[in-house]
Amino acid sequence: MKNIAILGSSGSIGIQTLDFISKTKNMFNVCGLSVNSNIELLKKQIIKFKPAIVSVGTQEDAKVLKLWCKNKRLTIKVFYGIDGLTKVATFNKVDTVLFAIVGAIGIHPLLDAIDNGKNIAIANKEALVTAGHILMKRAKEKNVKILPVDSEHSAIFQCIGQEKKDSIKRIILTASGGPFYKSNKNFSKITVEDALAHPTWKMGKKITIDSATLMNKGLEAIEASVLFDIPIEKIDIAIHPQSIVHSMVEFNDGCVMAQLSNPDMTLPIQYALSYPQRTNCYIKPLDLTEVSKLEFFKPNFKKFKCLEIAYNCAKIGWTMPAVMNGANEIAVKYFLNKQISFDSIPNVITKVITKHKLLKTNDIQKYIDSDNWARLEAEKIINSLDFKKNT
Ligand code: MG
Repeated sequence: MKNIAILGSSGSIGIQTLDFISKTKNMFNVCGLSVNSNIELLKKQIIKFKPAIVSVGTQEDAKVLKLWCKNKRLTIKVFYGIDGLTKVATFNKVDTVLFAIVGAIGIHPLLDAIDNGKNIAIANKEALVTAGHILMKRAKEKNVKILPVDSEHSAIFQCIGQEKKDSIKRIILTASGGPFYKSNKNFSKITVEDALAHPTWKMGKKITIDSATLMNKGLEAIEASVLFDIPIEKIDIAIHPQSIVHSMVEFNDGCVMAQLSNPDMTLPIQYALSYPQRTNCYIKPLDLTEVSKLEFFKPNFKKFKCLEIAYNCAKIGWTMPAVMNGANEIAVKYFLNKQISFDSIPNVITKVITKHKLLKTNDIQKYIDSDNWARLEAEKIINSLDFKKNT
């Protein structure tokens, strides 16, 4: 039995993970859970999975939950905030921590989990984008495995298998293209509802908007570069609307390996949790004769400015990807609140990265500081009169 902790158990990945675990017998024990604010769902998860430790977003929610546990005669440790996330991630019984929280908030708990020798299943791309090379270096020192949960990175991980890094010629990340790949709609007219209608994947709101701007693919290119220690110049993107090929790896001899399945996050989740074993499949089996057509196109960097920004920031490296990610999180938040237009998202990010003074350092705090600076700067820019007048 593997003891699992899930940070972000009320999100899309967290829910699918618990659903998978409940279908397996005697393979996983859910030791720890965390949610930000969905206490009602956490209560249901506590009753079903009986974790030993949980964490919530605020002190108030923690108080309410403690009382609820007492009334139900459940002996569960209840914590809150970033400290709470760290307590769950480093809980002594835990073998593997699934990081399924959204945003760069996961960095400290992630680092602490690595330092405590926990294996990591990572679905939080922002932490890897913000401070990836430091996290990966620490994982290597501690002999900790970081297993990707993102479908593309799980595909790349499986395609690389036991091959040596220097036999890799390039990585080809596939992208569904999101809802606007073929659309001629004016980007300034795109509404929140338009952008949330993703054609193939059902996901949380933030990542769905990132998929519509293609920033998600930019973040994933950086994530792949960090996870597999491959320069960004060797990572290409192919638009693949069917979302059947989850990514490919080309080797020096011209061989291209691809991983295929129907689009369902259960597969990368279960592979990350059961690795190196493979477990029974609960997703729809793939029948290529039924799919019949697989298409691949080159991405349009001019139309999807976020993609170009991400590649440029990756080339600069150091604190620049952290700043880009922080600015993007704020821009997406304001777009979701209908306070800025869809085409303003790359403009906000560009303004913030242009102002950033690059720091070449291995101090993780400087990456967190850069991320915080970028968020404040993005807010300032969005709320400036100049910006409001022009949008
Ligand atoms: Mg993905």
